[in-house]
This record gives sequence, structure tokens and C-alpha cells, in this order.
Amino acid sequence: MGATEDLVSTPPPASVGAAHGLPVADVVVLLGADRERGLSEAEAGGRLARLGANVLPRLDRRGPWLRFLLQFHHPLIYVLLAAAVATLALGDVVDAGVILAVVLANAVIGFVQESRAEQALDALMDMVRTETTVVRDGVRRRVPSAELVPGDVVVLDAGDRVPADLRLVEVHELHVDESALTGESDPVVKEAVALPVETALADRANMAYSSSLVGRGAGRGVVVATGADTEIGRIHRLVGEAETLETPLTRTITRFSQLLTVVILLLAALTFGLGLLRGQPAAEMLTAAVALAVGAIPEGLPAVVTITLAIGVARMARRRAVIRRLPAVETLGSTSVICTDKTGTLTANAMTVTTLLVGGRTVEVTGTGYAAAGELRRDGAVVQLGGEPALRECLVAGVLCNDARLTDTGGRRAVVGDPTEAALVVVGEKAGLDPHRLRSELPRVAAIPFDADRRWMATLHRAPDGRVVAYVKGAVERLLAMAATELRADGSTAPVDAAAVHSRADELAGQALRVLAIGTLELPPGTTELTEEALHGRLVLLGLQAMQDPPRPAALTAVAACQRAGIEVKMITGDHAGTARAIARRFGLGEGGDPVVVTGAELADHPAADLPTLVARTAVFARVSPEQKLRLVECLQRQGHVVAMTGDGVNDAPALRRADIGVAMGAGGTEVAKEAADMVLTDDDFASIEAAVEEGRGVFDNLRKFITFMLPTSFGQGLVVLTAVVAATTLPILPVQVLWVNLTTAVALGLVLAFEPLEDGVMRRPPVPATRPLLTGVVVGRIVLVSALMLVGAFGLFRWALAAGEPVEVARTVAVNVFIAVQVAYLLNCRSLERPMWRIGMWRNRWVLAGVGAMLGLQLLFTYAPWMNELFDTAPVAPVWWVWATAIGVAVHLLVEAEKWLRHRGAGRARVVGPGA
Ligand code: ATP
Repeated sequence: MGATEDLVSTPPPASVGAAHGLPVADVVVLLGADRERGLSEAEAGGRLARLGANVLPRLDRRGPWLRFLLQFHHPLIYVLLAAAVATLALGDVVDAGVILAVVLANAVIGFVQESRAEQALDALMDMVRTETTVVRDGVRRRVPSAELVPGDVVVLDAGDRVPADLRLVEVHELHVDESALTGESDPVVKEAVALPVETALADRANMAYSSSLVGRGAGRGVVVATGADTEIGRIHRLVGEAETLETPLTRTITRFSQLLTVVILLLAALTFGLGLLRGQPAAEMLTAAVALAVGAIPEGLPAVVTITLAIGVARMARRRAVIRRLPAVETLGSTSVICTDKTGTLTANAMTVTTLLVGGRTVEVTGTGYAAAGELRRDGAVVQLGGEPALRECLVAGVLCNDARLTDTGGRRAVVGDPTEAALVVVGEKAGLDPHRLRSELPRVAAIPFDADRRWMATLHRAPDGRVVAYVKGAVERLLAMAATELRADGSTAPVDAAAVHSRADELAGQALRVLAIGTLELPPGTTELTEEALHGRLVLLGLQAMQDPPRPAALTAVAACQRAGIEVKMITGDHAGTARAIARRFGLGEGGDPVVVTGAELADHPAADLPTLVARTAVFARVSPEQKLRLVECLQRQGHVVAMTGDGVNDAPALRRADIGVAMGAGGTEVAKEAADMVLTDDDFASIEAAVEEGRGVFDNLRKFITFMLPTSFGQGLVVLTAVVAATTLPILPVQVLWVNLTTAVALGLVLAFEPLEDGVMRRPPVPATRPLLTGVVVGRIVLVSALMLVGAFGLFRWALAAGEPVEVARTVAVNVFIAVQVAYLLNCRSLERPMWRIGMWRNRWVLAGVGAMLGLQLLFTYAPWMNELFDTAPVAPVWWVWATAIGVAVHLLVEAEKWLRHRGAGRARVVGPGA
């Protein structure tokens, strides 16, 4: 009793150091663990509360101060600071103060927006939960990796990320990539042996360290350290590097705005020089130069691009597509081919065995889902296993050559493991077998795990009478290649009739069923190892089990939507060609719904020169190996496609990395695949890819809208100043006023375009080529049109006000009001680049109303508040000037709408006489 109390009162340590130097038994005792049954849920819960979650401490990126200071590191800010100094030198303290205040406000706004964008991206990372298989209370279950505690028994499989530091207890060909820890990229083979304490980290074959990746094989280990106590926690490197907010597009835009800044500065210098040559006062010319620089430089551009991308990321996440790398947001919009898996992405991956073929006779299975309710029937009569040795053996093999488990929670059955395997357990239960009993009567002694290249798996079992039996299941052609004989209905064997089996399998596959062949082999008593050679050429074929997997309803509509949007959908699957074809038909893949199907073997034999043509016309690639996926991506990319490719297995990683958009499955995919991907689907559904593409197109649209809005307004202001200088007249707008217009319109007006919802019909037009520049003819045309209108409007009204005898302060305020009115009116144009304003729906983007409202409020203050008049050299204006400013705004709006209409009509006519007619 005393000893037990002692044990209870001394809690196990938070970690075991040098666990590699201890025998497993000691580690287990130290941690109060149990190698077979694992911890109890209660104990694990207690430890979690005491020791904390198994998460790595987050490395803080640049601190807030540094990030704030970096806001000043922009060419425009330098120009503004220089302008402030110059203004101060001219003795204008108030103006200098206003400029500095604006610089500060700009930095604060930039800082807040950038932080929010970063936070949004950080939050996304947490959406992709990693889970681990543990043994607790003697049963396997999936738990979030963060909930692991020292003493837990973890089961590792190919594709897993090692969730904590483990002392390995059992391994089967376990190959682990430890590059995250040691920098060594070659996989390390693990062994559950005892090692000397002084063994170096990289040589500790009996340990699996947190955040390394399982490339091949399987294993089991006891958690010896979690979170910050792990080796990776100790070297304090955050895995899954922090996102940067940079993308090719933001880099292009930054370069573009830098170039523009240089050009504008040169122009400003020219203005200054020109004025001086003409004998105008230096102070006035300096003011003009500064106004020009401040007005024409599109300072909001890079920030708004980043924000638009971040908003896109958040929208995609709401539609279950989590972006892992920001550049993917841009590329998604131009995706022209989606190569998708079948199982789980197009179909539900909810398998139910419906047909068995044993001893040449067919058995139908009733019932759907994973419930054990259902019967086996032949010719309408219920089949009893008693008189059917071959059928029984086929079902037993399916249950035992199997790693899936079914759990019952609240009357609902859930699958832990592969649904294909779960279906085999369920059909066994329907026939009256008891999986638990079978597993304990015929314990597993060895296994060859399933692998997408091998397409079969095998297990070795010891029967109560000492016999040793191997069970094998997998792709029909693979098992036939190994089989010598087949079991007949009465239990006797005969040479296998491969042609007949193939034809039956094809028939089942043609009904969209996934077909697995089942085989067995008795090995000499005492055998404890299983090798491929031992099975080859000797296998006894037991029969076929065929299962249905219904299409995902949302995927059906999503595939159709992609096709309407000019995106080709190609299915790439490891499954049988017949099954793949039947499913592809349901999805209407291929021209006219008749898919061209090519198998991996055909692909391998095809002459390389002809490959592009073959790939282009093929809708379904069946029995394709992961390496071939890589070649397919490359081939499509060479044809100029932007390729999105899905994947879930370890071997899919190279193809995912190579694709323009690598898409991994969040629920069913391996950690290795998620790490290689640009985007992770939290629900594994094809519909989420389509949603992400749609949002990607929206992001790109909104960026173009913003640029189309931003550039004319910048140029318009520059042009007004330039004209004033060239015409040697009074400046219609002062630098601080230009600054006011710029800052307020960028924040209150321009930014709202980032929130513009998707336009109807985004998925009814072909993808925009990735190479298409942001500055297209339309944008350039509009820049010219709107800049010219602004020039005429602002300059004209300014001169008119002066002519009407208004003081220059009033005339300038009128000019500023014209700018604002034009920008508000033009903002409404920019909500769609092609479609007329009235078709967009005024209320669809509430931010527009808020922005316009805020802008008007600010402008009233600017015009009428005495302190504003003081700061900005403005003066209250008579209502009639508002009427005129508004009229100019309305005129600009109508002219742009007219231009849209003419362009649309022109495009329509071109289509009518074009080659498509
Ligand atoms: P995808 O998801 O790429 O569309 P898939 O999931 O159908 O394809 P795989 O999982 O690679 O492809 O399976 C390929 C083939 O391997 C299947 O058609 C089946 O014959 C066999 N197979 C699948 N799962 C198992 C398993 N657990 N054990 C044995 N064989 C399997």
C-alpha cells in the first residue's frame, strides 16, 4: 500500500532526459506509462493540466517598435520629411507641422493595418490542426497533437509529423526525415534498440524527435518530452516559418511605385527649375514641386495590395481553404487546370462494401454507412458463413489485414484510420464476425504497410494452433501478379484464372465501385517476418471486395462551375481505370462528358515527344504513381498552364511543391503533404478548391479596381500642379491640401474597394493569364480620361472662382472639393471595371457607403471648421460651389460609364465578327 501511495504522490517528471540511453522498460516506469494500454484519459488530462500543452513557444518576429519604425522606411515618407524641412526653412511652421502630423498618421494607419493582416494570417495557421494517433485506455484514438503528454504512447505512420520526442518501442521500416532538427536531409532508419548515453543526437536511432517527418514505415513510441522540453523546443526554432507579407505581386507593385516616385521627383525638380528659369519666386516653386511630388506619388499602393491579399486569405479561410503561402492567393485567380484526387476530394471517402466475389459467386451486401446493420445475400437469400469457408476466409482477411478502428460516440460510428479498411471491418461484422475476438485470437506478428506506390498491404498472424498466416489486400492486378491459385467456394484451391478475375473486376469497377483483391498464404510455423519475396508467386486469391463511395454533392456543382470558368478539371487517381472512368462520367469530366482515360503504365510507355498532346486531351489518369504526378504537373506547366494539384500522401510532396498551387487535405492528408502545400482544405472537398479559385479571381479584380481608382487620381493632381507651373499661374492646390486629399481618399475611399464582394459572373469567364499586366489598355485609357477631366474640372472651377471675385483661399477650397467630388464619383465607377454601375448593386459593399459618408464629413470639416481653415489655408465656400463640384463629379462618373459602355459594345462586336463566330 505504502509503495503505491509513494507512486501516486510523486508525479512523473515533465520529461526524461537521455531517454535514448535507458532501456524502454525504465523509461516506461519513470513516466508511469504502459506500453500496451497507454495512459488513461483521466491521467492524460491531469498531466495536460499540470504540464501544459504540447506546443512550441512562438518566436516573436520583429517587435512592435521596429515594425512601427519601418513604416517610415518608404520613399514617399522621405520626400515628405524633406518637404517638411523645406517648408520649415521657408518659415512656415504650421505647414511643416501639418506635414509631420500627416506622416505620423500615415505610419500609425500602416502599422495597424499591417499588424491586423499578420494576425489574420497567424490565426489561419492554427486552423490546420495536427492530430496524432495515441493509445489511451488500450484503444487507439486521434487527439490534437497539442494534447499529448509525457507517458503517452504514440503510433506513427508514413506521412506523420512526429508530434513530441518519443522513445521508440516498436518499428517497422521506420524512415524519418530529421532535417528540421539536424539539417541532414537524408532519411534516418530507426531501430528500437538500447544505445549508449553518449550517442550523438543525429545517431539516436531509438528516438523520434518532435517535428521530424515519417517518410516510410510505421512505429510506436512513448512520449518522453513535449513542447518546449523537446529537442526542437530547446533549439527554439519555430517550425512552419512565420509568413512574410511579400508576394511577387507586392514586390512588382513596390518596384513600380518606386520607379514612379523617381520619375515624379525628377518631374518635380524640373518644375522647380522651369519656374526659376522663368523668374518665379523660389519659395513658390519649391511649394509647387512638393505639391507635385506629394500629389502624384501613389503612396497607398503597396499597403492596399497587401491588405487586399490578406482580406482574400480571410475570405478563402471562411470557405475552408487555408492559404499557407500568400503568393498562392494571386496565382489561384489564374489557375487554368485543376488536377484533383478522386477519393475524398471528388467522392465522400465514405466506403461501403456492396459486392463480394468469392469462389466465382457474387454476394450482395445491404446497409449503408459504417453501421453494422445489414446482411449478405445471394440470389435473394441471406448467406450464413457456416457453410462458406472461402467467403469466411475472405472476410476474416479483410478484418485482420487492417489498421482501421471504428469508435462509437453517442450512437454514431466514426472511423479512426482509412475508410477503405473500415468498410472491410463493417462487412465482416455484417456477416457475424467479431473483429475484437479475431484480433486477439490471431494476433499480428508482422506487417508490410500500405503504400500508394505498392498498392497493397500484408499482415502476418499467429493462429491459436500455431499456424502462421499472411493476409494480403490491395489492387487487383498487383495481387494477381503475386497469386498462383485461388480458393474455390468449397474451400479447395485451383490455378488462378487471371483473365476471369480481371473481367469481373472491370465489371465491378464499371459500376463506380472500388475493388480490392484479398489473398492469403500459410507460412511455416514460427515465421515472424514478412517479406514481399515470401508472398510472390505463391499467394492464394480469396476473392474481391467491391465498395461504393458516393460523389460529394458540392463537388458535383463545383466541377461544373470550374468548367464554365474555362478551367480544365483532370482526375489523377491511384484507383482502377474503370472505377475512375465511371466516377469521372458522373462528374462530366472530359469533352462532352466522355473522359479519355490513361493509366500510369500507358503514360510510362508513351513517347516523350507526344506526351504533351496525350496529357492535354486526357481527363482521367488512373493507377498513377506519385512520381508521375510530378511529371504531369511539369508537362502541363510547359504548355503554359497554371496548375493546381491536390495530394495527401508523403510521396505527393514533390508534385505539391512543383504545382503552382499545391493543395493538401487538412482532414485526411499527411503532415508531409500539408507542409509541402500552398493551400490546405479543411474539409478535403473539391468545392473548396473552386471556392478558393473564385475568391482568388475576386482578389485580383479588386486589386485592378484599386489601381484603376488610385492612379488617375494621383496623376490628376500632379497634372493640375504641373499645368499651373507651366501656365505660370497661382497654384490651385497647396502641398498640405494635396496631402489631405491623398491621405483621406486613400483611407476612406480607396481601401473600401478591397472589400468589394465577388462580382456575379467571376466564374463565367476564362482565367486571366498569369502574365497579364495589371496596367492593361483599359486602365491606361481610364488614367488618361480621368486625369484630363480632373484637370479641366479643378483648374476650371478654380479659375472661375477667382474670376468671380472669390479670395484665393476660397478658390483653392473649391478646387479641393472638386477633387473629392470627382474621386467619390469615380470610386463608384471603379466598383466594376466592365459592368455598368447600376448592375453592381449599391448596397452590396456597405464599406462604400461608410467611406463616402466619412469622406463627406471630413470634407465639411475641412471647409467650415475654423481650426481646419487655419491648418490647411482653406475657407468656407458658398453652397453654389458645392453644386458645381458635385456636377463635375457626376459628369466624370457619366463619362466613365459611357466609356465602359462603348468598350463593352466594341468588345461585343469584336466577338460577333471574331473567329469564334
Ligand atoms: P486518389 O485519392 O489519389 O484519388 P485513391 O485514394 O483511390 O486515389 P490510393 O489510396 O493510392 O488511391 O489507392 C490505390 C489503390 O490501392 C486502390 O485502388 C486500392 O486497390 C488499393 N488500396 C487502397 N487503399 C488500400 C489499403 N488500405 N490497403 C490495401 N490496398 C489499398
